[in-house]
Parts: sequence; structure tokens; C-alpha cells
Amino acid sequence: MTLPFRFEVEKPLSQYSTFGIGGPARFFSEANSIEEMQVFLRYCHQHELPFVVIGKGSNCLFDDRGFDGLVILNKISFFQPEWPVVSVGAGYSFSLLGVQTARNGWSGLEFASGIPGSVGGAIFMNAGANGRETADSLMEVSFVNRQGELEVLSRSQIEFSYRFSSFHHKKGAIVAAKFLVSPCPDARKKQLAIVEYRMRTQPYGEKSAGCVFRNPSEQSAGALIQEAGLKGVSIRGAEVSPMHANFIVNSGAASAQSVLELAEVVKQIVKEKTGVELELEIRCIPYR
Ligand SMILES: Cc1cc2nc3c(=O)[nH]c(=O)nc-3n(C[C@H](O)[C@H](O)[C@H](O)COP(=O)(O)OP(=O)(O)OC[C@H]3O[C@@H](n4cnc5c(N)ncnc54)[C@H](O)[C@@H]3O)c2cc1C
Repeated sequence: MTLPFRFEVEKPLSQYSTFGIGGPARFFSEANSIEEMQVFLRYCHQHELPFVVIGKGSNCLFDDRGFDGLVILNKISFFQPEWPVVSVGAGYSFSLLGVQTARNGWSGLEFASGIPGSVGGAIFMNAGANGRETADSLMEVSFVNRQGELEVLSRSQIEFSYRFSSFHHKKGAIVAAKFLVSPCPDARKKQLAIVEYRMRTQPYGEKSAGCVFRNPSEQSAGALIQEAGLKGVSIRGAEVSPMHANFIVNSGAASAQSVLELAEVVKQIVKEKTGVELELEIRCIPYR
């Protein structure tokens, strides 16, 4: 099979996941513009080729067999501030967006600094921290649907809740967004404090995908796992981080299988000890 655009075959997905895990993508392409994304999705639709769009791979667990279709790396990365509105490509670094807005004295996205995802991934996941979520400052999203058509959706046309957006049920690609920020002389100070706290409390230098489990209502998944005595427990290279119990880190030898086995053990033990049923937050990308 050959595709009418630039692509690579058998590309190891471990390079595109902060977990450092994943087998090869059958096909792999980078979208550098909205038009390119439209071409890719139109082609996949017409030829019934499965696809998945990824940003920085900081919330993904790819299958050990890889992905049997086209993996599209979103690299649409423009940054156009017209304060108080900021337009960004969905491939832009979400962390940098938090830094850039705060440095210029604008508040609302300080929490983003240190979240190692793309703007598209942050919108898809409704990423959040420090009491704020991506949806809070969002005005508008540009989205390429599975037929390759561009849709512009206002914030009110999208459903958001804790680590959820209606994009979970809408196949396509988030390609750009507009955020509304507000003036605040202390924004930079707040943003620097947030990063300093992250560095102190999370295993940043290690391979992970952030929090593995969603926080059950009113409770912290990390605290439940820690109280169950599971910090440091490991299976074939996957370890419950001794620094932050809701992180599973890859010591170098982990596979998707070993991460999932460890997550299952954690779920069972927490359920036995506390009665709470933990749910995965990370996105498992199946082979097919
Ligand atoms: C050290 C560390 C700290 C973290 N801290 C936090 C935190 O504080 N808060 C938090 O919420 N998360 C946190 N995360 C998790 C992660 O960074 C966020 O969920 C982030 O928003 C994911 O963005 P991404 O671009 O990496 O998405 P990816 O991992 O690439 O993708 C995640 C999902 O989004 C979909 N997706 C990605 N881009 C698009 C797009 N353009 N269009 C359509 N679908 C898309 C993918 O198909 C996949 O299903 C952390 C992760 C790490 C490793």
C-alpha cells in the first residue's frame, strides 16, 4: 500500500510517548498545517484506513504491537497573541503556552506550565492542575472531522468535565484553539511557583504518562495508592513511583503489558483495602 503524501512505515511509537513504550506504526505522518491534516483524514476516510492523532504522547500508552493504521503527529504549532485572546496551533506546547501568557502578565493558563502535552492533547483530555482546567479559558476550537472538513466550535458547543471532552466521542483532529486570558501582574510569580511545586512532587526526569488513575470523587488516587503501601511495587520494569504513587514509571525495560498488569494489581489492592474502584486516566491506544 502507498499513500499520496509523505509518510514513514514501521515507525517505533516508543519515540513518541513519554512512557517510552510502544511498537511500530504501520504508517506515520506529521501534519504541519490544517490543510495537511485535512488531506490525511480525507484519505483515511475514503480508504477506511484507521488513524490516530497524537500530540506529545504524554498521556498515551501505545500497544506493544504498535498501531495497525496511520499515526498522525500533530505539529501545527503557531502562536498568535492578540491580548487578551491567544490563537494557537493544536501542536503547540501547552506548557509553553502557560509560560508565554504568564510572562506577558496574563492569567488563566499558569497551571499549564509543566504539563508536557500539546494544546490539542490538553483540550482532548481537559487537562488540569492547581484547581483549573483547560476548558476554563477556552473560547473556540478548530476541528477537522473524519471526512476532512474543518469545523469551528465555540466553547459552548463542546462538553467538558473532569479529564473529559466530547472529542472522546468525535473522531477527527483538533487543529487550533483560541483562549481568553485576563491581566494579572502576579501571573509570572504564580506560574513559577506552580513549576517549582511540580518539580518537587512529581518524577519529572523519569518516563511516565503522568497520573495513571483518575481521582475518585473527593479523593486522591495517589493518596489511596500510597496508603495501600504500593509505592515502589514493580512488574518487569514498570514501577509505582516512590515519589508520587499515582505515577507508573518505566525504568527502561517496561512494556505496555507490564504497565497494564501493574495497574491491574494496584486497582485490585486498592479495591480490597478501601472499597474504591480506580479508573484509568491514561489513554490506551489499541493495535486495531
Ligand atoms: C510528568 C507528567 C506530568 C503530567 N501532569 C499533568 C497534569 O498536571 N494535569 C493533567 O491533566 N495531565 C498531566 N499529564 C498528562 C498529559 O500531559 C496531559 O493529559 C496532556 O494534555 C496530553 O497531551 P498530549 O499532547 O501529550 O496528548 P497525547 O498523549 O498525544 O494524546 C492523548 C489523547 O488525546 C488525543 N489527541 C491528542 N492530540 C489530539 C488532537 N490534536 N486531536 C484529537 N485528538 C488528540 C490522542 O489521540 C489521545 O487519545 C502529565 C503527564 C506527564 C508525563
